[in-house]
Amino acid sequence: MTKRTPRVLVADDDAVALLVAQTALESAGFEVLGADNGSAAITLFAEHNPECVILDVMMPGMNGFEACRAIRATSAGANVPILIMTSRDDVDAVARAYESGATDFTSKGISSRLMIERVRFLLREHQSRQALVVSEGRLRMVQEMAQVGHWEVDNAGHTLHVSRVVCSLLPALESAGGHLALLASALRSRDGRRLLEAFRAWQESRTPFRLEAELRTGANLHIQGTTTPGADAAGTATLTLAVQDISKLRRAQQRAYRLANFDSLTGLPNRAQFLDTLAGELGSLKPGEPLGVLVFRLRGLERLQQSLGQAACDAALVNTSRLILDATVHDGGAAFAHLGGGEFAYCSSGCNSPALAASVARNVARVLAAPVTGQGWTANFLISTGIVMWPSDGENAETLLENARTTAARGMSTAESCHEFFASDDQQRALRLLDLESAMHGALERGELSLAYQPRFRLANRGLRGAEALLRWNHPVLGSVSPMEFIPIAEDSGLIMAIGSWVLQEACRQAAAWHARFGSHLTISVNVSAYQLRVPRTLVEDVLAALRSTGLPASALELELTETMMINATSETLAALHELRSLGISIALDDFGTGYSSLGYLRRLPVDCLKIDQSFVSDLSADEGAERVLQAILGIAGALRLRTVAEGIETPAQLEFLNKHGCLEGQGFLLARPLANHALEELLAESEAIGATGSSNAA
Ligand code: C2E
Ligand code: MG
Ligand code: MG
Repeated sequence: MTKRTPRVLVADDDAVALLVAQTALESAGFEVLGADNGSAAITLFAEHNPECVILDVMMPGMNGFEACRAIRATSAGANVPILIMTSRDDVDAVARAYESGATDFTSKGISSRLMIERVRFLLREHQSRQALVVSEGRLRMVQEMAQVGHWEVDNAGHTLHVSRVVCSLLPALESAGGHLALLASALRSRDGRRLLEAFRAWQESRTPFRLEAELRTGANLHIQGTTTPGADAAGTATLTLAVQDISKLRRAQQRAYRLANFDSLTGLPNRAQFLDTLAGELGSLKPGEPLGVLVFRLRGLERLQQSLGQAACDAALVNTSRLILDATVHDGGAAFAHLGGGEFAYCSSGCNSPALAASVARNVARVLAAPVTGQGWTANFLISTGIVMWPSDGENAETLLENARTTAARGMSTAESCHEFFASDDQQRALRLLDLESAMHGALERGELSLAYQPRFRLANRGLRGAEALLRWNHPVLGSVSPMEFIPIAEDSGLIMAIGSWVLQEACRQAAAWHARFGSHLTISVNVSAYQLRVPRTLVEDVLAALRSTGLPASALELELTETMMINATSETLAALHELRSLGISIALDDFGTGYSSLGYLRRLPVDCLKIDQSFVSDLSADEGAERVLQAILGIAGALRLRTVAEGIETPAQLEFLNKHGCLEGQGFLLARPLANHALEELLAESEAIGATGSSNAA
C-alpha cells in the first residue's frame, strides 16, 4: 500500500501568513490546502479529507473555533488533529480552543520550522493513537468472544478501569462505583474469602494469583490477578484481574465426566469409575492386607424383557440396583457400580475376609429373595455372586474385576441364588473333576444315565444295518456331560465296571426289543472300556449274562475296542476275545487309524471289522492326500477280509467317495445323529416299510 503525501489544511484570512505557512509546509513535503475563512475551510475539509488542520482564530464570517467545532462534528473530522493558532498570551482563547475540540494550540507567528515540527508531531501522535484504538478494539473483540473481562484496580482495590464483560457478570459493579470487595461478596462465601486472601497477598508482596470460583448465581469464574504491566512497583502499582466466565466449559466437562464415569440408567458409577476407585483402594492398602471384590449377576431380566419389554427391564434394573446398594455396607472404602446389563460390582476394604464377603453375598441374595415390583409388574430374580479376594485372586483392579465376573457367570445355571469364590483355570478344572466325580457316584442308581443309538447304514443302498450305543449322562445341575469327559472319570474311579455292564445289559435289552417288535436283525455295537478289558473274565461274564437275560442272539452283538486297547492286550484278554468271537459276537476296532498297529499284527488280531476314525473322513474334504490314505486303509481292510465302517460322515461328497472306493458301511450326522430309542424305532418302522433293513452282518 503506497502512502499518499499527507495533506494539511491551513485557514487564515491573513494572505501573507497563509502564503508563508503554505510555502514552508510544501517545502517540508506536505500537500497544502489554503482557505481564507472558516466556511471555505469546512468545504475544503469535506472535499479533500486532509490529515491535519491548522485554523486561525480570527477570521471573517466564521471564526476558527466555529470551524473547528463544525469539522469535529463530521465523521471524518472526529479524530483529525486540529491546531488552533491564538494570539500570544490569549489564555481565554486557549481554553476556548480546547472546548471547541482542538487537539492543540499554538501562538501565531511561530517560526516556519517550529510549525513544521508541530505538524509532524501531531501527525505521528495521531497515527499512534489510531493504532491504539485499533488494537484496543481487537482486544475487546477477542475478550468478548472468550468471555474474558479485565478489571484494573488500585492498591486499595478501587476500580480504575473495568471492561464490559466484567460488568455484565457483576451488574452491581457499575452502579456502586466499584471495589474488588463487590466481586468477593458476589462469590460463594468460601470463594469470596479466597479472593480477598489472594488480594491481600498481592497487596503485601505483589504475588500473582489464579483461582476458580463460583458466583452465588451459579456461574463459574476463572480469576487471574497480576500486577498491571508497566505499573510502578513502588507502592502505586495496580492490579489487573482477568475474569473469565467458564460456566459452559465446566458444564461440558461435568457432562463429559458423567458420561465417562456413570451409568446413564441407574446413575451409578460405571465400570471405568469402579476400576478407578478400586485401583485407588488397592494402592492405599498395606502390603498383604485383603480386600473383597464382588460381582452380582441378576438372573431373570431376559424373561422380564421378553414378556414386558425394555421399559420394565430398565425399571427392574433401577429398583434392584437400589436394593443391592442398600444390602451392601458402604463405609469409607466402599464402591458400588453398574457394569452394564444385569451386572453390578462392589468392593470394600471393610469386606476383608472371604467370610465377610460371603455374608455380603448372602445379604444381597436375601434381599432379592422377595419379589421386585414395578408399575404393573412383579418379578422374581435370582442373583449369582462371584467373589474374589485381593491380593490372591488377581494382580490388579482389572483382573480382579474380570475374575469376579467369570466367577459370577459360573453360578448362572444353579436353581437358586448363589455365591462362589474365584478359582484359577487349573483350580477350576480340578474342581470340575471333583464335582463330576462326586456327581457320578450314584448317577446310575438315580437313573441319570441313558443310551443314545447312532444308526449304521449300508452305504450302497442306505439300508439300516445296526446302531452304536452311546452313553449319555444328564445331571440335574451339571447338565448333559459328554462321554469324552465323564468316561475317563468313571474309569479312574472304577465306576466304569458297573456302568459298562449296565450299558451291555441295556443295549442288548433294547436290541432284543427291536428284534421282537420289528423282526429285524439289527446289530447293536457297544463300546468297551480299556478298564473292562483288563478284567477279561468279568467282561465275558457280563456279555454272557446280558445275552442270556435278554435273549439277544450273540450274532447281533458287536463290541467296539480301540487299537491301543488291542496292542496292550494280555494273552488272557486275547483269549477272552477269541472266546467271545467263537460264540458269534463280532469285534470291531474303533477309531481305526489313530493307533499304530502294523499290518502283520492286525492280521493276527481277533477282529471282524474296522471302524475308520472320523478324522480320516473329515480330512477328505480338506486335502487330496487324505483320499490316498483312505484308499490305503480300505485296501488293508480288503486284504485282511475285514468289514469297514466309516465314522463321522458329514457330507454327500464324503459318502460318495467312501462308497465308490469300497467302504461298505458308515455312520455320521449326514445319515443320522445319535437318536433316542423312540426315534430309532420310528426309523426302524420306516425302514421296515421300505424293506431296507439288512438281516445279516455279511457284507
Ligand atoms: P466313538 O465310539 O468313536 O463314538 C463316535 C462319536 O462320534 C460319538 O460321540 C458320536 O456322537 C460322534 N459322531 C457320530 N457321527 C458324527 C459325525 O458325523 N460328526 C461328528 N463330528 N461326530 C460324530 P459321543 O457320543 O460323544 O461319544 C464319544 C466317545 O465316547 C465315543 O467315541 C466312545 O469312545 C465313548 N463312549 C460313548 N459311549 C460309551 C460307552 O458306553 N462306553 C464306553 N466305554 N465309551 C463310550
Ligand atoms: Mg464307538
Ligand atoms: Mg469311533
